[in-house]
Amino acid sequence: MFDAVSLPETDQILRLMAIYAGDDRPLKVDLGVGVYRSPDGRTPVMAAVKQAEQRIWQNQNTKSYVGLAGDPAFHGAMRSLVLGDAVPVGRVAAAAAPGGTGAIRQILEMTKRLTPDAAVWLSDPTWPNHSSIARYLGLTIRTYRYYDAETGGLDRAGMMADLSAAAPGDLVLLHACCHNPTGVELSLQDWQAIGATLETTGAIPFIDMAYQGFGNSLEEDAAGTRLLAGMLPETLIAASCSKNFGLYRDRVGIAIAVTSGETAQGAAQAMLAYFNRQNYSFPPDHGARVVETILGDPILTDIWRTELRGMREGMNATRAAFAEALRVETGSDRFGFLGSHRGMFSLIGATPEQVDRLREEHAIYVVRDGRMNVAGLTPDAIPHVARAMAEVLI
Ligand code: PMP
Repeated sequence: MFDAVSLPETDQILRLMAIYAGDDRPLKVDLGVGVYRSPDGRTPVMAAVKQAEQRIWQNQNTKSYVGLAGDPAFHGAMRSLVLGDAVPVGRVAAAAAPGGTGAIRQILEMTKRLTPDAAVWLSDPTWPNHSSIARYLGLTIRTYRYYDAETGGLDRAGMMADLSAAAPGDLVLLHACCHNPTGVELSLQDWQAIGATLETTGAIPFIDMAYQGFGNSLEEDAAGTRLLAGMLPETLIAASCSKNFGLYRDRVGIAIAVTSGETAQGAAQAMLAYFNRQNYSFPPDHGARVVETILGDPILTDIWRTELRGMREGMNATRAAFAEALRVETGSDRFGFLGSHRGMFSLIGATPEQVDRLREEHAIYVVRDGRMNVAGLTPDAIPHVARAMAEVLI
């Protein structure tokens, strides 16, 4: 079976992590892997998570199976967090999944089964797993312009022109906030314009919400998603709790289908459960239960929101300090966009050769496409990284 196998490409971020681990230079800085880091370089277990886990440990008296779609209390908690009161509950179907990636996979697989000719429109660039999973499932991939490398902002005209060519039933994959890898946000006006285009074309928004609460606020980061869900007959959402609850390895995510009405909702709910059954039967429960415990308790919710706000404000302060350090080092505003981007990632506009030089000469680890994780920048690393970037990129 394995003698003649052609091996899949190894994930370049995982490869980078391995090189970093073997680097013994004391000043090494990991701006590669996409996890949040506190100013002292840790990825902590959040305080509300610890408390919720303690409660679960004390009160849980069975580990027996839950439903195929996961616990309805988790669906309810996530529906409110993601959608607020943008749509009536009767329009929403949901199924827990192993992480945001699991939810993406379930939704794309469902699309392939139900509408095999639908194309999936991906932003250029996007998180590589989007194209990888879509390709693996045999879906047709189309791309729409998104990033303007000249300005470090949105190619608004290009995006709207490309999206107007989508066919009815095509999926348009949008990042809810904190676009990975560019850091470029959509304004509410952009979301409105996208909604109007989707209304005209009949294409379906598929929103990847992996960073709610990492951009501007829990509410603002969901505003575009809520707008589209309220405006259009169908919206698909893959939400992840990996980042905003720090539950990475527990694999907590949810696939949500906002449908046209109660009949379609019943069908969507049955399909989501069916696809869970085919892939892994019951979705993991522990992390989902932690999330539902936090969101179901006003005190824990408050503790969680406060810690999340601190993380967000820290990342945005790092962005501002780093943009300022680069302004001083380069004597220009060339990297000013880093201050206005949101979330963990930005593209620094480095060629693969420049990325290699940053690593080899300065022990700074950035993904080969020039994506850096701003949350990996501890305050004392900022001057070193700014100086190195000015030297290598200018
Ligand atoms: N979407 C995007 C854009 C991401 O960056 C990530 C995390 N790297 C995910 C989805 C899913 O993450 P997870 O499967 O760990 O929840």
